[in-house]
Amino acid sequence: MENDKIILVLNCGSSSLKYDVIKMPSRESLGKGLVERIGNEKGVLEQKVKGQKYKIEERIEDHKKALELVIKAITDKDNGIVKNISEINGIGHRVVHGGDKYASSVLIDDTVIKAIEECIEIAPLHNPPNLIGIKVAQELMPGLPQVAVFDTAFHQTMPPHAFLYGIPRKMYEDYKIRRYGFHGTSHRYVAARTLELCKRDASNTNMITCHLGNGASITAIEKGKSIDTSMGFTPLEGLMMGTRSGSIDPAIIGYLMDKGMSAQEVMNTLNKKSGLLGLSGISNDMRDVEVAALDGNKDAQEALDIFTYRIKRYIGSYFAILDKVDVLVFTGGIGENGWEAREKICRGLENLGVLMNYEANKGIRSKETIVSHPYSPVTVMVVPTNEELQIAIDVFDLAFAA
Ligand code: AMP
Repeated sequence: MENDKIILVLNCGSSSLKYDVIKMPSRESLGKGLVERIGNEKGVLEQKVKGQKYKIEERIEDHKKALELVIKAITDKDNGIVKNISEINGIGHRVVHGGDKYASSVLIDDTVIKAIEECIEIAPLHNPPNLIGIKVAQELMPGLPQVAVFDTAFHQTMPPHAFLYGIPRKMYEDYKIRRYGFHGTSHRYVAARTLELCKRDASNTNMITCHLGNGASITAIEKGKSIDTSMGFTPLEGLMMGTRSGSIDPAIIGYLMDKGMSAQEVMNTLNKKSGLLGLSGISNDMRDVEVAALDGNKDAQEALDIFTYRIKRYIGSYFAILDKVDVLVFTGGIGENGWEAREKICRGLENLGVLMNYEANKGIRSKETIVSHPYSPVTVMVVPTNEELQIAIDVFDLAFAA
């Protein structure tokens, strides 16, 4: 159709590049792929189009080479997604940190690039590869509208009492230390999709969205706006996660350093060796931990108990800050698939009006479903997230729908 636009969505990590080609406004994914081990001896690109897999294995020295391979793969005569690269109409980039500068997605120009560069200081691991992705895309596919979609943007509506820490104000003024929140694109997508599915309007709906994956966060959404979220200055705050500790007493960090660990070692432990992995001693993967717990492993059982207990505690606190809660939404790998975890979290929330239909919840994986009773004051839903689609929607809205 004449108004159809094909959007290339790029998510650049330090050694990976995830992509999805999405047709708008029909929201159809035409094919997607992943480049991994950029910079290693042997890199790999795997693409999936209508169930067909296509693979390229060779040295991929940098992100420019990775995007060149993506262009080659998506235009491949036999296994490609489009006939010619000129069929791509716009590009959307996932950018982790927009600081306090961006409360929504933006068309990329030099000012935006400068702003993303300025955020490197507070997102040293994530923003540099995101920026490289933007620059390489500008070089290899010039003249196309490109849009930056920030993980932090959705949470810019948090009021100061939710985003300021109780530390000297000067630390906020001098170093921008405050809570930013992450996973915003996912929380925004599932919130909008929930409204569509429930045929509700944002203006009279409050919800709590639980993004539970290897990384996990919970957001309190009042009339469409994020008013609080569990991640903070970095994605380490809040819930316990696959390998991240979540919130701990900050005094532990000084204590461990007094015991001889360097700041880097402590941070590495809290980010990469804690959470489900650190407590179970088995895996950061929920499925492995669940299997071990069923086999009678006490550490694994305790890891599960702590994971779900903390989620329950956050949900309770968000009931306290929202006037009323209409919908409780589960998303992310665990939220979408882990019906046992959903059951464990919701048991005991009856006094808050969460009347889960445990039979309906059982076995539901990655499917948009209501899992509460029709008479439950709070509707409980499973809504699979789709950050790539949200990015494509933003590109379409900003570049073509005006
Ligand atoms: P994500 O980071 O959103 O991809 O989610 C990854 C997490 O989802 C891992 O901990 C997986 O173990 C978990 N997950 C995926 N499938 C299931 C499942 N069927 N049951 C429980 N957890 C699952």
